[in-house]
Amino acid sequence: MAQPGTHGESQPDSVSGAPETSGRLQAPGEMSEERAVERRLRPSTMDEFVGQANVVENLKLAIRAAKERGETVDHLLLSGLPGLGKTTLAHIVATASEVELFEASAPTLQRAADLAGLLTRLEVGDVLFIDEIHRLAPAVEEYLYSAMEDFVLDILIDQGPSARSVRIDLPRFTLVGATTREGLLSAPLRSRFGIHERLEPYEPDVLAQILNRSAGILGVGLDDDAADYLAGRSRGTPRVANRFLRRVRDLAQIESDNHISRAVAEEGLTRIGVDEHGLTRVDRLILRTIGRADGRALGIKTIAAAVGEDERTLEDVYEPHLLREGLLVKTPQGRRLTRQAYAIVDPGGLQNMAPRGAEPDLFSPGAAQE
Ligand code: ADP
Repeated sequence: MAQPGTHGESQPDSVSGAPETSGRLQAPGEMSEERAVERRLRPSTMDEFVGQANVVENLKLAIRAAKERGETVDHLLLSGLPGLGKTTLAHIVATASEVELFEASAPTLQRAADLAGLLTRLEVGDVLFIDEIHRLAPAVEEYLYSAMEDFVLDILIDQGPSARSVRIDLPRFTLVGATTREGLLSAPLRSRFGIHERLEPYEPDVLAQILNRSAGILGVGLDDDAADYLAGRSRGTPRVANRFLRRVRDLAQIESDNHISRAVAEEGLTRIGVDEHGLTRVDRLILRTIGRADGRALGIKTIAAAVGEDERTLEDVYEPHLLREGLLVKTPQGRRLTRQAYAIVDPGGLQNMAPRGAEPDLFSPGAAQE
């Protein structure tokens, strides 16, 4: 379940945030290799962490101030789409504070005892990282309140007349919660975090810097225009950028003496089903499914069933990109395509079915998420 310094065991493939060979997010069985490479590429200090300057500055300040006061860092809530660096920052906070990091994913904390087991392993100042914290079971969440606020756990033992409460004192620790859905966090839980930081998708030039850093670590040559090409199709997400780099590196190794030129980058992405718009097979399937609905809005359940992905994956990973690119709009009735999307999915046939009112100018790239 929770391990010091390792990635949460049960993080589902669905939130991994990147397209894979088959156009899906993650090929089954690839998680461990994927994680190993991610760990290698993961920045370990604030200075290595590229971009998100405000967040980095705020965290540096919080760590320094806590050190000067001889206190632990305030509980920290990190929100943002999958793959933007929340886990990485949690590790960096622990390293910079010179403490141990313990890691768990909220869905693995089913019972109060799971949480108690975890909390009682902590020492003063340690960081407890809980991924997907919006998915905590309500009963477990309630126990967390007193742990966060008063550093005690009041565990109820037994039921009925023999029920009694046992108090366990905890060391002062820092909880780092990560969430892709800040809106789903309950108000009491949210209010117990002293620091809230939101990670935004990265601009292509920042992703190009990340790609250059990763190429250096992996020992592969990367031309500037190749880095720009990959960065432009990486959905604003370092994890996607690194994954693309890894796939393209395989091709470069076989075909071009470990050097990624623009042509190799283009061929590599084409081979894994990423088109000139940066869309994966699943993205295109989503667009085509909605496009076939004759201009009607489609609910998330219907789309998930047609595409074969779960609803959470669609909402957390695929939709944000399609919304940001101005290809999809969310209405109270469901999802609709924009005219721009009709032009992409099927310039011939589906375009004729573009509904009136699917106005592209309202949802130009970038507008939908602002
Ligand atoms: P999240 O927890 O938000 O899903 P991670 O922290 O696991 O994302 O980041 C995924 C991968 O992306 C990491 O392994 C790391 O290599 C890379 N990464 C994320 N943010 C950055 C960054 N700012 N600079 C460099 N690499 C990054």
